[in-house]
Amino acid sequence: MAKKTIVIIGGGAAGMFAALVCAKQAPQKHVILLEKTRQLLAKVRISGGGRCNVTHAQFDPKLLIQNYPRGAKELLGPFHRFQPKDTIQWFLERGVKLKTEEDGRMFPISDSSETITQCLISEARKYHVEIRTEQKIKEIDSIGPGFKIHFENDSFLECSRLLLATGSSPQGYGFAQQMGHTLISPVPSLFTFNVPSSPLLDLSGIAVEDAEICLKETKFKQRGPLLLTHFGFSGPATLKLSAWAARELHEKQYKAEISINWLPSFSKDHIAQRLLSLKKDKPLKHLENENLFFLPSNLWKRLIHIADIKERTAISHLSNPHLQKLSELLSQSTFRVEGKTTNKQEFVTSGGIDLKEIDFKTMQSRKLPGLYFAGECLNIDGITGGFNFQNAWTTGWIAAHAMAEQ
Ligand SMILES: Cc1cc2nc3c(=O)[nH]c(=O)nc-3n(C[C@H](O)[C@H](O)[C@H](O)COP(=O)(O)OP(=O)(O)OC[C@H]3O[C@@H](n4cnc5c(N)ncnc54)[C@H](O)[C@@H]3O)c2cc1C
Repeated sequence: MAKKTIVIIGGGAAGMFAALVCAKQAPQKHVILLEKTRQLLAKVRISGGGRCNVTHAQFDPKLLIQNYPRGAKELLGPFHRFQPKDTIQWFLERGVKLKTEEDGRMFPISDSSETITQCLISEARKYHVEIRTEQKIKEIDSIGPGFKIHFENDSFLECSRLLLATGSSPQGYGFAQQMGHTLISPVPSLFTFNVPSSPLLDLSGIAVEDAEICLKETKFKQRGPLLLTHFGFSGPATLKLSAWAARELHEKQYKAEISINWLPSFSKDHIAQRLLSLKKDKPLKHLENENLFFLPSNLWKRLIHIADIKERTAISHLSNPHLQKLSELLSQSTFRVEGKTTNKQEFVTSGGIDLKEIDFKTMQSRKLPGLYFAGECLNIDGITGGFNFQNAWTTGWIAAHAMAEQ
């Protein structure tokens, strides 16, 4: 068995980062990275709409973990060792400066994911990581201590340490299962909602800055910007809800009732009171011209219409039940979700290798010594905003150090 050989399977963010950190830490060891496709870092290249949302400007590990529907508890320790501050510093030391957008997302100042891929690849070359692409692995034997990797062309490779960083690839899950690990069934996370019966579809493009969206009959609700689209709803609030309720929505086959509070800063009573006061104060005005809560004007008009209030009716002619109906719509409009659409900016898999079977101080398997895991192949996923790459950098970094030290 090649004692000095460390093999990393998967040339994505987690695998590449682990490979180059490990090679730098342990120059006496031979680090080999095996990638099944022709291209390294494929997801990094397309990430964040081609800009790569590398991490998020949240530097308190306790607050940072709140962005992980799965894996929060386990990531707390690792984030005390390698967190967004370290990611920023790591790239800065290699000439890549990151900038922060208003919502905390961090991108390279070049606004190009190329900057990130080039940095990672040149760092891997600098520390002599042996990169092998188009590698067709057939099976992996544990030859305790160590591993024998068999390829489809009947060649093989032996190593003392093995890191699985295969993302959401079914073959990667299969290898882990064969080596004794449990798979939490993978289901999609970070998607938008299809609501074909929505009366708002033609308002596509309208963004509401602060709305609350709630999955009815569950505890799941999320607040933030909401985007109306020609198929239903998107935007951060929707994506966050899809992440937190990923498993429940999967069980419901993406058919569920949601309710939207367009004015989460106001109580239903407050909204009703404001409408009743308006009736007293401006009886001759038309409601469509009195956008009391500064909602996007077309949405305000549409909600009035849905409340069965005719255009150009003097407010004094509106019955209290009409105003009541409008106040209910403003705080709780109900819609029927009939399916999901992949979010093109970022999507991830919820599910993966069971976290109970991993030691998060080293990312080593508790089942099979010498086997390590990093990145999305684990049952960890974050909401949109750079949290998923941070998981890849952090778990890759920890695994790399542990493999280099042992
Ligand atoms: C369109 C899109 C945009 C995204 N944008 C962002 C973003 O801006 N910010 C963010 O934080 N997250 C983003 N994400 C999520 C992020 O890309 C992933 O969480 C991250 O790439 C996970 O890294 P990973 O290395 O664990 O897995 P992956 O990036 O999936 O890499 C796994 C690698 O392993 C290889 N592999 C699989 N099986 C084998 C095998 N048997 N043998 C050899 N190699 C194998 C694969 O080919 C792949 O190269 C985005 C995702 C998508 C799909």
